[in-house]
Amino acid sequence: MTETSETRPPVIAIDGPSGAGKGSVSRAVAQALSCRYVDTGAMYRAVAWMAGHEGISFDDEPLLTELSERVELRLAGRSVEVEGHDVTSVIRTAEIDSAAARVARVPGVREVLVRRQRAYAATGGLVMEGRDIGTTVFPEADVKIYLDASAEERASRRASDPAHGLGGADAALSDVATALEARDHSDRTRQNSPLTMADDAVLVDTTGVPLDGVIRRVLEIVQTRLGALP
Ligand code: C5P
Repeated sequence: MTETSETRPPVIAIDGPSGAGKGSVSRAVAQALSCRYVDTGAMYRAVAWMAGHEGISFDDEPLLTELSERVELRLAGRSVEVEGHDVTSVIRTAEIDSAAARVARVPGVREVLVRRQRAYAATGGLVMEGRDIGTTVFPEADVKIYLDASAEERASRRASDPAHGLGGADAALSDVATALEARDHSDRTRQNSPLTMADDAVLVDTTGVPLDGVIRRVLEIVQTRLGALP
């Protein structure tokens, strides 16, 4: 029997810029739907971390591409393992923020990681977050959400997010805002799969909206598109 969107497990794409709240929202939606959560940003971060670990230059496109093909990645909820190393927190530093954005500009790396991301759909329903999920990875996704927030709010969320190692007195908001802007610019202007909203995505502006309100709104959209939640 050919699989149709009625018979195959759902794919929910959640895209948007850094600090829009994709991680917390995607995990909550995945839990509500009993689906797997996949953080594709963590895959670019893991490749960047491994390149540093192996001394591969961020300009060496063939070696980076080969690395993204062979590197063993394990994503389980929030936790990320690369070749048996638990890198869950070390891939969230400011250094890896910019290294991941550099690695993500390499066409070969994108091609390989997009293929690896598509393979997750073979194992069941998915909530996948990233920058190009609704446009490139799963253009046929059942639900596409584009989460956004004002640049000021995204920077202040990042600055106070302990997962990004920026919490506390050291996190100068203006430094975080500058770094976030540079990364956004790189993500929006790269040639290959730049960050952009898919034509059929639903825009959710999270500026000034508490997390539980955003989750409720996204679940309503999912419910409208998929029918009753399981
Ligand atoms: O989402 P996160 O901030 O962890 O992503 C890290 C970087 O990985 C992004 O700045 C972006 O350059 C890249 N990325 C991407 N495509 C995705 C997910 C992340 O290019 N689907």
